[in-house]
Amino acid sequence: MADMNGTSAHATRGRLAGKNALITGAAGGIGLETTILFLREGASVLMCDISEPALAKAITKAKETTPHMAGKLETLKCDVSKESDVQAAVEQLDAWGGVDIMFNNAGIMHGDDADAIDTPEKIWDLTQAINVKGVWYGSKHAVISLRKHKKNRGSIINTASVVALVGSATPQLAYTASKGAVLAMTRELAIVHAREGYRFNALCPAPLNTPLLQDWLGDDQAKRHRREVHFPTGRFGEAIELAHAVVFLASDESSFVNGTDFVVDGGMTKAYVTPE
Ligand code: NAD
Repeated sequence: MADMNGTSAHATRGRLAGKNALITGAAGGIGLETTILFLREGASVLMCDISEPALAKAITKAKETTPHMAGKLETLKCDVSKESDVQAAVEQLDAWGGVDIMFNNAGIMHGDDADAIDTPEKIWDLTQAINVKGVWYGSKHAVISLRKHKKNRGSIINTASVVALVGSATPQLAYTASKGAVLAMTRELAIVHAREGYRFNALCPAPLNTPLLQDWLGDDQAKRHRREVHFPTGRFGEAIELAHAVVFLASDESSFVNGTDFVVDGGMTKAYVTPE
């Protein structure tokens, strides 16, 4: 653990040296960038994703960009909306000594998600199953693993969104509701497990340059501009900018950071009007 001066035996070996991490949605934008930074910081990483082809590409990129990794790296197909999949993924880390860091990051924003009138019930249910139940299952099995391995420290990071904090005028009601649930759930988990040493923080990204949003925006410049104009910086965020925040939340450097809505948004949610 880092001492109060921020120095530690890990300083030379990496900020996450010796830690075992499970990342869901690891083949996507934030998940893959976080995998790469975790590896560079000395962690072992199990990359979980629903898409096997995407995982195959992602592990190749992770290996290419981190040729000298100290930790282990594996992939596993896992649908976070299925508890048995999540349980199996977490239990795969038993062979490494159990989970230390759980990044419940997988999430969807469906193209048919709309307002209260037009959102189909099946899209509502699918979104909640992945974005909310997936985070519950991940949190649940992380706690089971931490207890099983008698750990007195663990970091669980759940990906929410700025739409859990501010309303979106372009409706995506199922997604917004799901991210609000992630925020509320994470806060309660943080309080309930604080004395066991298990920290829970919610990551709140603003719109990013990742496939999740960019595929949805496509070439529609007006749709794109409606969002960009809200950023004081005038730009979307990058997945790597989120990954750096996740490294901090995962590491012992954030040992007194618990139950936060950790906003990484370039100032977007604090803006009244933005520069011309
Ligand atoms: P992405 O689409 O690039 O990656 C998401 C990954 O999750 C994909 O690889 C996908 O295959 C995987 N996935 C989808 N359903 C799954 C399931 N059922 N089980 C396991 N894996 C599944 O998205 P991203 O931008 O990296 O998003 C990661 C997280 O960040 C999501 O929770 C998203 O809601 C959140 N977020 C993204 C933005 C943004 O603008 N990109 C903004 C705020 C929050």
